[in-house]
Amino acid sequence: MIIYGSELSKKIREELKEEVSGFREKPCLAVILVGEDPASVSYVRSKNKACIETGMDCRQIDLPGNISREDLIALIHDLNRDDSVDGILVQLPLPRHLNKREIIGEILPEKDVDGLHPINVGKLELGLEGFVPCTPQGIMELLGQMDVELSGKNAVVVGRSTLVGIPVAKLLLDKDCTVTICHSKTENLKEITKRANILVAAIGKAHFFTEDYIKEGAYVLDVGVSRVNGKLMGDVDFENVKDKCAAITPVPKGVGPMTVTMLLKNTVLAYKRRRG
Ligand code: NAP
Repeated sequence: MIIYGSELSKKIREELKEEVSGFREKPCLAVILVGEDPASVSYVRSKNKACIETGMDCRQIDLPGNISREDLIALIHDLNRDDSVDGILVQLPLPRHLNKREIIGEILPEKDVDGLHPINVGKLELGLEGFVPCTPQGIMELLGQMDVELSGKNAVVVGRSTLVGIPVAKLLLDKDCTVTICHSKTENLKEITKRANILVAAIGKAHFFTEDYIKEGAYVLDVGVSRVNGKLMGDVDFENVKDKCAAITPVPKGVGPMTVTMLLKNTVLAYKRRRG
């Protein structure tokens, strides 16, 4: 079973569009892009387009790569105060002179639709209502689509970033999976992933996971995106493993579109929460 995030996204975006059409005002997402990194430019473009297509406003703010820390923080404070803005997203990565944790920490937690502010990270940890980061949230929606019983299953997450690996591990734990988190220092990785009923691959190494890493009948979610000779490739060698899996997400058209869709969902949530 190949699970296309692009198709599930379409369905969720239609539902959001319908919901938004009943709102008095349009939910507004402010997206801050610092510099001209080509991948970031393309991600911001797709977020902007998705907002507009869903009937939402997107305020894209392009800033020079050499903007000072003070000016960027002042802009974030303006957006925090601006009542017409529901969500604020700072596109990562930031240029080296800007500290991503400090900058994200300046966003009002109630507008942090990327779910990366320490308050939202802490709320996820404590099981409180906040904003869940978009990619992990998208992965859980895809697992829902795979119709897999999660309770008691072995879930292995490869990658321990605060953006993907750690929050998705927490969400799987909340669903009563037995979760193992692996990283670059993990010994005998293959032995661990081979016991995974659910495997989340988030390392950013093209076609790293071949069939000898996969358990027969596993559910595989491929988060990785690498560009090799102009082609997008996942962490999983799709053709090599697909017949061994119960279900697998492809790259492209897998996890990627779900990330943008969850951003729209979080922005709608922010709009609703802010208006009670
Ligand atoms: P990251 O911050 O670079 O983290 C990569 C993680 O993979 C680290 O924890 C690293 O371990 C681990 N790792 C690297 N090589 C490994 C190996 N050979 N064996 C085991 N673990 C290894 O990256 P990220 O932000 O989490 O993103 C991961 C991938 O997902 C990237 O390709 C990124 O482009 C993609 N991504 C896709 C989406 C989407 O929407 N589709 C969204 C976000 C990210 P250490 O901690 O030990 O260094």
